[in-house]
Amino acid sequence: MEDSTTTTTTTTMAAAAATLVPPWLESLLSTPFFSICQAHGDATRSECNMYCLDCAGGDAFCYYCRANRHNTHRVIQIRRSSYHDVVRVSEIQSLLDIGGVQTYVINSARVLFLNERPQPKTAKGVAHACEICGRSLLDPFRFCSLGCKLVGIRRNGEGSLVGEKGISELREGAEHGIFHCTSPLPLPPTTSNARRRKGVPHRAPLRS
Ligand SMILES: [Zn+2]
Ligand SMILES: [Zn+2]
Ligand SMILES: [Zn+2]
Repeated sequence: MEDSTTTTTTTTMAAAAATLVPPWLESLLSTPFFSICQAHGDATRSECNMYCLDCAGGDAFCYYCRANRHNTHRVIQIRRSSYHDVVRVSEIQSLLDIGGVQTYVINSARVLFLNERPQPKTAKGVAHACEICGRSLLDPFRFCSLGCKLVGIRRNGEGSLVGEKGISELREGAEHGIFHCTSPLPLPPTTSNARRRKGVPHRAPLRS
């Protein structure tokens, strides 16, 4: 069965898209966060929850690594909400055009999600839905996450102000994936395959 993975297989199809996406964004979205730093594992703030835009492509690192190696760089801090990575709007809005991405207030800070989250089901007839993955949204935004916006830009070859052509295809594909899927544990989207975290139930048997 085809499912939502069809929305994530698009490679850089338009050269124009490259200029619309900061070089570090894709790396950020595929970086696993919240492992314990190998160099500072005994310290209290050793969770790797930082990402450096100037060393794009590098791994996540901890508070102490930041002080040691990135203290003059542009670093953003990743936070967690229900095991999903979020970033504060106040930290990223000056670095990235986040227009069209749903934001949420969590712990009194406005945040947005880095990646699409697997969802068990979506009610039909929701007022607002992500154009890429079909997740229902609280407000009339176009994307649930930065990852879905990136897919949208790649797919359309231009920024957030795009025509409707192609969008309806995506929406149909997403709906098929969602409404016909009966598995209680849908596969994670390919955009987050690089993540290997403790606490993801269906991956646990690999290690222990
Ligand atoms: Zn460290
Ligand atoms: Zn750096
Ligand atoms: Zn989405």
